[in-house]
Amino acid sequence: MTLLVDRVRRMSVWGTVQGVGFRPFVYRLATELGLAGSVRNAGGHVEIVVAGPAPALDEFARRLRDQAPPHAVVERLTVEAAAGRPAPGFVVLDSSAGTAANGIPPDLATCPACLNELFDPADRRHRYPFVNCTACGPRATIVDGLPYDRERTSMRAFPMCDDCAREYADPADRRFHAEPIACPACGPRLSWHRGPALARGSVALYMAEWALRFGGVIAIKGLGGYQLVCDATCEAAVARIRRVKARPAKPVAIMVPDLATAHRLAWLTRQDERDLLSAAAPIVLAEAPHSTSPDFPDVGLFLPYTPLHHLLLADLRRPLVVTSANRADEPMVIDDETALRELEPLVDGVLAHDRPIVARHDDSVVKAGRLVRRARGYAPAPLPLPVRVTAPILAVGAQLKHTFAVADGDRVTLSPHLGDLENEAALDAFEHAIEGMSPAVVAHDLHPGYLSTQMARRWPDRVAVQHHHAHVAAVAAEHGIDGPFLGVAYDGLGMGDDGTFWGGELLLADFTGYRRLARFSHAPMPGGAVAVRRPDRMALGYLLGGERFDDDPIDVPDTEDVEVVRKMIERGINTPLASSAGRLFDALAALLGVCRRNRFEGEAAMRLEALALPYATAEPLAWRIHERDGLLVYDAVATLRDALAAVAAGESVGRVSAAFHATLAAVTLLLCERADAGIRTVCLSGGVFQNRLLTREVTRRLTEAGYRVFTGERVPVNDGGISYGQAVIAAATRL
Ligand code: ZN
Ligand code: ZN
Ligand code: FE
Repeated sequence: MTLLVDRVRRMSVWGTVQGVGFRPFVYRLATELGLAGSVRNAGGHVEIVVAGPAPALDEFARRLRDQAPPHAVVERLTVEAAAGRPAPGFVVLDSSAGTAANGIPPDLATCPACLNELFDPADRRHRYPFVNCTACGPRATIVDGLPYDRERTSMRAFPMCDDCAREYADPADRRFHAEPIACPACGPRLSWHRGPALARGSVALYMAEWALRFGGVIAIKGLGGYQLVCDATCEAAVARIRRVKARPAKPVAIMVPDLATAHRLAWLTRQDERDLLSAAAPIVLAEAPHSTSPDFPDVGLFLPYTPLHHLLLADLRRPLVVTSANRADEPMVIDDETALRELEPLVDGVLAHDRPIVARHDDSVVKAGRLVRRARGYAPAPLPLPVRVTAPILAVGAQLKHTFAVADGDRVTLSPHLGDLENEAALDAFEHAIEGMSPAVVAHDLHPGYLSTQMARRWPDRVAVQHHHAHVAAVAAEHGIDGPFLGVAYDGLGMGDDGTFWGGELLLADFTGYRRLARFSHAPMPGGAVAVRRPDRMALGYLLGGERFDDDPIDVPDTEDVEVVRKMIERGINTPLASSAGRLFDALAALLGVCRRNRFEGEAAMRLEALALPYATAEPLAWRIHERDGLLVYDAVATLRDALAAVAAGESVGRVSAAFHATLAAVTLLLCERADAGIRTVCLSGGVFQNRLLTREVTRRLTEAGYRVFTGERVPVNDGGISYGQAVIAAATRL
């Protein structure tokens, strides 16, 4: 027999516990178990005082962990004895103000229960584009302070009607303490703007849908920013979106009504399906059939994730192009004034609403279960920090695909993707975000020209972190690897510690330091930054001035630039050296006639991957590894020469490209084995590992040889993950 003794306990719950229906869950659990007490949001965590018999309290604590709502993550639960005796019954208290910067929950896609209401003619929220509940809806994009409460979101401008207030206050209702709760009587409203014309509510939606039906391009106010939308099957409209965005080549994402439609457009894996259906609802880069996408390996698909998107897709019954409304690489527009001033003249109308967007969150992008762009639905959920810090660290990131990170306590908060810092608007956004911060230590890249590095100079206590060390440390930290590991960094460019640009590196690393074990052979980049946009120049760089280990002759293609480039290299004019895997992809793409100019970052490599996919099992090309100055060096020129010979012998470009992927996989394994560091853990990072074929082949060969292989999943392997790596390294070395 259990002795029933009344006890009082104080429980603190840490993790993702705000904005995910956690307090209502606590209320229902306590009520079910007949316990008295209270629950409240406190800064970044939830505090519970609970009284009752000891066995019931134990069960309560167990179920707090085991039965938490679907999107809650309980990272830590502390239980301590407390004094006093709460009044009978269980109450949800108002929040106590907190200072924690952590704990803003990510946005969640519309849940099935809300979808039912959206399409139920009898429901009072029938076709209401802002329906949400404790399990879904806007969070991070409307919050401007913690704790997470309606008064600290942009919903404070909408006083609840009596019906909503009743639901909000009723512990038995699924909208109990749903902070963004709204209905047609009290919540935000749509508006349609076209020149002087203005319509509101359902008429606004009707006008927008008519514009889309007739091949128009419109701007809509989405969750984390404005989006450009058109019928994906209307080529003229898609071409217009490209012109508005000044983005002639890069594929645009397509929103499809359901999984069945997605299956018709791409080869979806189970993982792709899971990601499409997840509460984060990212754009999934799925493998595209070669017949429909000969140039690019992927097609970007996603499902509707707000009630407004659901209404558009259901009414129009066709896939829509839905892409962030911006020009080139500028940040997406979030405020109504800019949208009406700058977007409206370029499109056939703007579908806006009166709930302000507080934080800009682009759509996140996932490829093969790994984040390529981490923003809406993921940010700012915290990431692990392997070492605890007692004072905050700011890591300012790199230059392109910019993010910044703040390490505090035992977690890192990574900002959503901000865009390229070269862009003034992105730089302003970054400046605004870090203004007023007083970090104890600031981590930055070695590259003095990065605007992030220059920004870091305003703080006295700084740590310079090598770019590829940050890349591989990000992967190791995400996977909780402690102790030394082999870091394979295949990347575009990053400043090395020897004054050359790196990007084809094997490092022996931990969080406090690294030693370079191997590298790709280097080649001059004729014209410096120009060569990044000019794979044809890079090819000449390798053939005319690439690092050599033999005197075998090379047939240099006779192009107009040959003499110019030869002179640049001979005289050493603007020809910085790079040992970069990304530049090697560029050079090969140009030599194969696949891509002479990069219209966007990574285009040449993407085209090579697309060509290679049908020949995935090709044998490697010729390759050699030499030793030079204590480093292993992969002789890239030997491979390029063999590729040229294969093409001259009539081999298809696709097969040569597949052989090149296989070559890099074989090289990677041999570099790891020859380095013989006695380490069996390998972390793959750098933007080149966004290539699914290369990642698959490298992982396969290393795994078969007995290595444990990790790569970025929750943190991008591209420069969007640099700030996280910097934060981890600064934490390990300085605090
Ligand atoms: Zn819902
Ligand atoms: Zn209402
Ligand atoms: Fe990089």
